[in-house]
Amino acid sequence: MKKSNNNIHPIFDRIVSRKEQERLLNQKGTVLWFTGLSGSGKSTIAEALERKLYNQGYFVKVLDGDNIRSGINKNLGFSLADRKENVRRIAEVAKLFLDSGTIVLCSFVSPTIEIRELAKEIIGTNDFKEIFVDTPLTICEKRDVKGLYKKARAGEIKGFTGIDSPFEAPINPALVLKTENITIADCSNEAAKLIEA
Ligand code: ADP
Repeated sequence: MKKSNNNIHPIFDRIVSRKEQERLLNQKGTVLWFTGLSGSGKSTIAEALERKLYNQGYFVKVLDGDNIRSGINKNLGFSLADRKENVRRIAEVAKLFLDSGTIVLCSFVSPTIEIRELAKEIIGTNDFKEIFVDTPLTICEKRDVKGLYKKARAGEIKGFTGIDSPFEAPINPALVLKTENITIADCSNEAAKLIEA
């Protein structure tokens, strides 16, 4: 793939700006990025937070792992290269929503520091708020929401995060949620504090 193309002339400066969109929506756009093991609670918390914010009159979009992998990213697998491309596209999509003033809730395993750095770079440091859904592997495995841990232990799934593929905890996240100790509602309340009124 070519890195740059002289025939491409973006018109970002001519379309309605993010500031104007934010004024229309009466909110500030931002991206909350939930990272953690499968079954840690990312989707559950994002859903609860979306509903809460929606009820308060905010304009919100959830981007969620399996939704994206069943659509725009259906041609990608789980090799490290594909995981990276998965997150690169998601971050670009999140940025499009961000530019329209939307509050974007991204819930993706996004297992390595490098992958999340890439997302942060695309989205922009000020708008990328990393939330570590810090649920121990033993609990995620006990929950086994989708039966995937059982399959991974049986060798039916290769390269499963936490089993035979690495998960690197964030170094300096905006928020850490220990879901074994607090309720879903409390998790979403904590995350909501990262959104500017
Ligand atoms: P992920 O999106 O990280 O793969 P899910 O949200 O699909 O995880 O699954 C998390 C599971 O853990 C759900 O069944 C949820 O009800 C349960 N759970 C228990 N306590 C919590 C909590 N405090 N926060 C989030 N999920 C929780």
